[in-house]
Amino acid sequence: MTAYNGYVTEEEIEGAADGPLAGRTVAVKDNISTEGVRTTCGSAMLDDYVPPYDATVVERLKAAGATIPGKTNMDEFGMGTTTETSAYGPVENPVAEGRVPGGSSGGSAAVVAAGDADMALGTDTGGSIRCPAAFCGVVGIKPTYGLVSRYGLVAYANSLEQVGPIAPSVEEAAELLEVIAGPDERDATTQEAPEADESYADAADGDVDGLSIGVPTELLDGADESVVETFWAALDDLEARGASYHEVDLPSVEHAVEAYYVIAMSEASSNLARFDGVRYGKSGGYDGNWNESFANAREEGFGEEVKRRVLLGTYALSAGYHDKYYKKAQDARAWVKRDFDEALSDADVLASPTMPVPPMKRGESLDDPLTMYLADANTTPVNLANLPAISVPAGETDDGLPVGLQLVGPAFGEREIIRAGSALA
Ligand code: GLN
Repeated sequence: MTAYNGYVTEEEIEGAADGPLAGRTVAVKDNISTEGVRTTCGSAMLDDYVPPYDATVVERLKAAGATIPGKTNMDEFGMGTTTETSAYGPVENPVAEGRVPGGSSGGSAAVVAAGDADMALGTDTGGSIRCPAAFCGVVGIKPTYGLVSRYGLVAYANSLEQVGPIAPSVEEAAELLEVIAGPDERDATTQEAPEADESYADAADGDVDGLSIGVPTELLDGADESVVETFWAALDDLEARGASYHEVDLPSVEHAVEAYYVIAMSEASSNLARFDGVRYGKSGGYDGNWNESFANAREEGFGEEVKRRVLLGTYALSAGYHDKYYKKAQDARAWVKRDFDEALSDADVLASPTMPVPPMKRGESLDDPLTMYLADANTTPVNLANLPAISVPAGETDDGLPVGLQLVGPAFGEREIIRAGSALA
């Protein structure tokens, strides 16, 4: 057991004898299926669920020679920003006492920050790799939608989420990305990335000479002053190395959090229907009424945040409200995509603080879900636009709290954000 509760299950899975990750440990978020090793998604519902197969990314880790030291703690089904909604207890931030590690991949970022794993896999639906990477002072990459297989990932909101790497440095994160990226015939949303003449890790050469960085002013508005200061100091650093920056507008992002939560909750309400105690999850018993049986299983198996989202998502998709909420959110998503395309037409990458605030105090945000949702203002637009983004440590606030810098690239522009990020970490 780690003192900060980073793992739900510590059980070693051995990889091949050699390969690019031989001798290295890669922890795996507990919503990614591991054959024979329980996979809880941070939920009581799946407390004793043992998948009969490996996710594609896990197969690839094993083939690359990695050792998996365990399954990392997470917000229940990926729903959260602080890793406090896990049925297995909250994760503490190993580098900032009394603070949350970010979420939902808080366990993955924490075990890397604490040195209990060399690297880790997280998943990012609306920031769940980048947020904990920022809060724990490590590097996280949310790949372009379709670069990494979701086969064997327990779905939360499948049109938004991607598996991605968390590591102490950009180069190591890029090495891990190399292993997991690439088409998978078992996930029809995967695509072949355009051909490139260097590996992701080779792109981590820190060369930002001539790089043009767009700074969306909307993603700085409303951010904490200490975060904004640290952000500008990091940009000055990049400028000193030959990059230049200019302001850009992303007017649509004002609606991104709302659109994200409508879409994410709608998809969640549908994806989580399978947890009824019959197909998946703990049995709700049966005495002649299946509705009661399903209700019992879900009443007992799901936590409060999951229930809230299933209810709201079901409402948003219901006849009569579908056009008012879900369809509007899809329109907003299309607008966000157009805005990013435009901003990236005259910048190589876009930069912002990853999170508008430093790591929150533990226990602060659970009673106030809306404030927690708003903390995703800078990360969710990227998922709506299907683009790649990296979070790298930008420095610390005066109080010594880690601040992350987010770099967003064009679709399949992983090398651009890796190169730019590697100038800082
Ligand atoms: N905080 C966001 C949410 O709760 C993002 C979660 C994620 O990326 N899995 O939905």
